[in-house]
Amino acid sequence: MPENPVLERVLFSEQQLAGRVAELGREISADYRGKLPLFVGILRGCILFYSDLMKNISVDCNMDFMCLSSYAGGTASTGQVRTMLDLRESIKGRHVVIVEDIVDTGLTLEYLMGNLKNRGAASIEICCLLDKPCNRKADVHPKYVGFTVENEFVIGYGLDYNELYRNLPYIGVFRK
Ligand code: 5GP
Repeated sequence: MPENPVLERVLFSEQQLAGRVAELGREISADYRGKLPLFVGILRGCILFYSDLMKNISVDCNMDFMCLSSYAGGTASTGQVRTMLDLRESIKGRHVVIVEDIVDTGLTLEYLMGNLKNRGAASIEICCLLDKPCNRKADVHPKYVGFTVENEFVIGYGLDYNELYRNLPYIGVFRK
């Protein structure tokens, strides 16, 4: 793995990510057999995780995306959520799996869960690659979690700092 000066250290290598994402895909596929789940990816942080996860989903499913903005570009949550891009179809009666990069305070997902519940989904679960439970401010409980992380700002594999580093194939702690 190349030395990267913006990283304090690498947390999860490409191989570790691939292994865990494959496990999540198998678990979710087993849970949703015959249910035609709708996987809602939350842009932009989900992109690499979403695409790798979907390759490991072995049941029929639909894919859609939302873009929410909760951060103003720095490293701390503002708690304010705006919908920049919404779903294309109704989710009434659908089994929805939200695919998110990281749950930190949980404020973004608290807003989103409320929003999607109001649209009449049959069920809504959260699948996040990373969970940072020590920072939680909202009552959200992801059912599918890739890895739990400490209270550190991480980048790579979709996660950015000021819109940079999303393309790194691994995840590391950002050197502030
Ligand atoms: P929450 O509303 O749970 O505080 O924040 C969720 C969003 O904040 C995530 O989808 C992600 O975009 C951003 N976020 C939270 N923690 C981190 C982090 O450690 N690194 C990066 N790059 N983004 C984070």
